[in-house]
Amino acid sequence: MRVGVVALQGDVAEHVEALRQAGAEPVLVRTPQALEGLAGLVVPGGESTTIGTLLARCGLDAAIRRRAEEGMPLFGTCAGLILMARSASGGEPPLLRLMDVTVERNAYGRQRESFEVEISCPVVDPNPFRVAFIRAPVVTWVGEGVHVLARHEGLPVLVQQGRLLGATFHPEITGYLGVHRYFLELSAQRARGTPPSRG
Ligand code: GLN
Repeated sequence: MRVGVVALQGDVAEHVEALRQAGAEPVLVRTPQALEGLAGLVVPGGESTTIGTLLARCGLDAAIRRRAEEGMPLFGTCAGLILMARSASGGEPPLLRLMDVTVERNAYGRQRESFEVEISCPVVDPNPFRVAFIRAPVVTWVGEGVHVLARHEGLPVLVQQGRLLGATFHPEITGYLGVHRYFLELSAQRARGTPPSRG
């Protein structure tokens, strides 16, 4: 299964590696043409203003929006989730506005800007798993169609709306593959024409 990774800025290599280890064939995406034939697309973490600006510059913003509206699964981590959000506070980058969530950028206090923690998410894994929050956003609102799959300290950290999956954390940094596997399931369901298992 060919799964794209938006390769403009951010932790592209880590996602490529995680996808490969989870059994997919990663494809670097820098042009609208590269979206052809993909089962799903990862929008990585990094700096959301930079990634959003570059997406617009190469015409990928409109192309991704169109594909997502046609049902292509998307997985955004951290800056990637910010870009998928309906709106963002704390300096709004050029957004794709695909998911009914609002986020506040860099919302964890200074001391805790970056930390690793174990989270529980039975839908993804019966056991808790370790993930990294790196200058992470906080999800401040979720719309009716959005499922909160995991929380940390009461705040949503993994959210799903249909075939859109968003994490405020980075599973790829700690080498944890479960969230990528979950995303590959969503992508396989779409390839088979079956509805998403959730959302
Ligand atoms: N702080 C970054 C932003 O607001 C996101 C950080 C990340 O992706 N790890 O764009």
